[in-house]
Amino acid sequence: MQMETEKKGSALVVFSGGQDSTTCLYWAKTRFERVVALSFTYGQKHVLEVEMARQLAAEAGVEWSVMDVPFVGGLSSGCSLTDSSLTIEEEKPADACPTTFVPGRNMFFLSIAAIFARERGIYDLVTGVSQTDFSGYPDCRDAFVKSLNVTLNLATDEEFRIHTPLMWLDKAETWALADRLGVMDIVRYKTLTCYNGIVGDGCGHCPACQLRRRGLEKYLSKKL
Ligand code: ZN
Repeated sequence: MQMETEKKGSALVVFSGGQDSTTCLYWAKTRFERVVALSFTYGQKHVLEVEMARQLAAEAGVEWSVMDVPFVGGLSSGCSLTDSSLTIEEEKPADACPTTFVPGRNMFFLSIAAIFARERGIYDLVTGVSQTDFSGYPDCRDAFVKSLNVTLNLATDEEFRIHTPLMWLDKAETWALADRLGVMDIVRYKTLTCYNGIVGDGCGHCPACQLRRRGLEKYLSKKL
């Protein structure tokens, strides 16, 4: 099984403490000797998100750093998730704005992560972006990530490798991956995806909770 491959080198995981990046953190642990998790604070509504990330990284036994990049949050005047950014149709609670949403946010995070990693001699970057479920975010798509990889290499004269283990997985398949990695319970009960800041299965009605729950139900029903 692929989990048994020999571990080599170091990787940096862009780490929010949500379902996707936590699954990626454990994925990285199966492939790299040393894993470093990097979280960002940029004016998120829920400080808890950062605390959860710290705890999850500690439980995973990986180094964790947090970088405050308030200018990223300051670039956008609040939630602008008005168009196709989220594809889930449902009533949006007043509180549904995921955080301070900034178009191109992922571009900033990955670029900063690359420079942070390079300072530590790390050239493998891992990000939990997925084109399958979040195609509304252009900078989560495969073409963007490949393009940024080239740009980072040109910008630094290095050879970065951006890994996107979830790129072509839907949420059910992401749950399956967490299960295969043996961290189903950690991902299910200790990660924070909910826009209302409720850990684990969350509030149940925000778009992130709905997506997460549908994926979980689909995965569990297939398993039975
Ligand atoms: Zn929720």
